[in-house]
Amino acid sequence: MEPVEGIGDVTVVNTCGFIDAARDESLDTIAHLIDSGSEVVVTGCLGREAALLKSRFPGLRHISGPAQASAVVDAVLSEAPQREAYGLPLGPAGVKLTPPHYSYLKISEGCNHKCSFCIIPQLRGPLRSRPIDDVLREADRLAEQGTREVLVIAQDTSAYGLDLSYAKRTYAGAEYTSRIYDLAAALGDRFDWVRLHYVYPYPHVDALIPLMAEGCILPYLDMPLQHASPEILRAMRRPAAVEKVLDRIRRWREICPDLAIRSTFIVGFPGETDDDFATLLDFLEEARLDRVGCFTYSEVEGAQANELPDAVPHGDRLDRQEILLETQSEISAEKLAALVGRSIQVIIDDVDENGATGRSQRDAPEVDGVVYVDDPRGLQTGDLVWARVDSATEHDLHASALGQRLDLK
Ligand code: SF4
Repeated sequence: MEPVEGIGDVTVVNTCGFIDAARDESLDTIAHLIDSGSEVVVTGCLGREAALLKSRFPGLRHISGPAQASAVVDAVLSEAPQREAYGLPLGPAGVKLTPPHYSYLKISEGCNHKCSFCIIPQLRGPLRSRPIDDVLREADRLAEQGTREVLVIAQDTSAYGLDLSYAKRTYAGAEYTSRIYDLAAALGDRFDWVRLHYVYPYPHVDALIPLMAEGCILPYLDMPLQHASPEILRAMRRPAAVEKVLDRIRRWREICPDLAIRSTFIVGFPGETDDDFATLLDFLEEARLDRVGCFTYSEVEGAQANELPDAVPHGDRLDRQEILLETQSEISAEKLAALVGRSIQVIIDDVDENGATGRSQRDAPEVDGVVYVDDPRGLQTGDLVWARVDSATEHDLHASALGQRLDLK
């Protein structure tokens, strides 16, 4: 969360209360912006703690909680009414803050799991899915407005529809079931790229892989696995059958060889021994995931894991994070190097006189790598093109555009 210099009189701070470090960062950001003279609109998880915010920042006038997009828009318009002229595109799921060619699509709120390190179910409540006709209505609106890539998000994407007993709904003359497979297939009919995030490793995720192999949705799976030691996973209250995960990844790659898997892990969880950590490194060597993020364990107020014995010293947490990221960076670099010489699809995010920057099917915005396209002639933001990979680094690719623009859908 980086305040941007020069942005006007009103600043919206979308806060995170997930871990203490995120809370501190949110509070520091608000303080910095108030000191800079901006009118601050606070929203998101920390907005639930209005009393705390009021006592820290007595002049703060606009506070709203998670998923209160219209309160945010009202606050912004009350402070800067001229912005109305731009017609903020407010849909049922909120305000679109991304460039026209890609959009996030939130399909549910809340989570039914009880991971011991996490307070999201306390902050956001149990799973509440949007009926599929509601999601598709927003999807069609986004497609009409020029979205080519849709990023499906939720706290637990693959649980979609469980709370609705997978209700059937009719939309635009067709019947759909509120289930992740049906939703992914329907979105695949509407967008060039459909990317699934925050997929919990349920068995029914297997059914999505053929949709990826057929090109209906992107061969990309963002699946936070958190650890690989069965003892730690049990203490985290997560699925602990690691061998099954490895078997499934092998099978998925047989069905869809181009599948890119992104995951995140927590190191330094209470009770994590050297052996547990070694098990995690062995898993990474075997799984050969494409993209990996790693967090050090952070005590979160209200999380059950705070009660667990054998806290790992902070220095060890940081050391393990560094070792894990070094281990993975070699794997990631090898996987990207294997793409050199291949033709890949690239969606163009930005063009300037020095070149174009885009992303491959393996790259989600902000969290993964980018593709630098050296000769930007004729390219525009939002184009989807074929490009030949010339070279690779640990995270990014350099490629040459092959000319033809793609119009897949
Ligand atoms: S599945 Fe994700 S959101 Fe749900 S409790 Fe676990 S970590 Fe939190």
